[in-house]
Amino acid sequence: MTKMPVIFFGHGSPMNAIADNSYTRGWSEIGNSISKPKAILCISAHWYIPAVAVTAMERPRTIHDFGGFPKELYAMQYPAPGSPDLADRIAEILGDTVSVIKDDQHWGLDHGTWSVLCHVFPDADIPIVQLSLKEDEPAEFHYELAKNLAPLRDEGVMVIGSGNIVHNLHAYAWGKHDVEPFDWAERFEELARNIVLSNDHSQLVNYEQLGSDAMLSVPTPDHFLPLLYILALSTEDDKVSFPVSGFDGGSISMTTVKFSEM
Ligand code: ZN
Repeated sequence: MTKMPVIFFGHGSPMNAIADNSYTRGWSEIGNSISKPKAILCISAHWYIPAVAVTAMERPRTIHDFGGFPKELYAMQYPAPGSPDLADRIAEILGDTVSVIKDDQHWGLDHGTWSVLCHVFPDADIPIVQLSLKEDEPAEFHYELAKNLAPLRDEGVMVIGSGNIVHNLHAYAWGKHDVEPFDWAERFEELARNIVLSNDHSQLVNYEQLGSDAMLSVPTPDHFLPLLYILALSTEDDKVSFPVSGFDGGSISMTTVKFSEM
């Protein structure tokens, strides 16, 4: 049986949930091109907390974790079921390394998850579990922890990360989606792609040593760390592709990184 793909999505603005643009069309095409997973595990930039937690509720709520957007976006629902069984499985396989909180009350699906998946799988019929990013741990911790999730690829579970390789909101041109990207953003994006292609993930795990372009592109770890989970789950048998790319507002890269055996 082939392994499920692992995919990092650059999610960008929450408005992509209700937009029709090159990113959202690319996400739809990804959904059409892969066989339907039994379940999805999403590591989202937006669940960045002081603990390792998995969502364990039957019906995760759609969380509108942003401010100042149109009513239409707050009305958006993505009613995919949860999977307490998958939450149990994740707690089991990570349990030797860390203590895992099974959250059946508080979180749900944040916009890092649903703003993308509403295009990839618009029917919202695949069970989804989110895994938090433990905010007080270094990048190495996340990369090593993620390796434990490898068996899920053989169990019909598609693991996705949702963040952005370049994510600098201080430099972001609000409302101007098509401005030219900053030089440092383009350079870091290209460097990151080349490192992904070279298979030497340690350089991205140690991104803080990649100089000023990295510091400007990754001013905080939250949107970058989900990429490390996907890299950690890739194997030499995977083909890597970048099915979606582009920059939003000059300082957010929308690159998708897909590892797939087919
Ligand atoms: Zn985000």
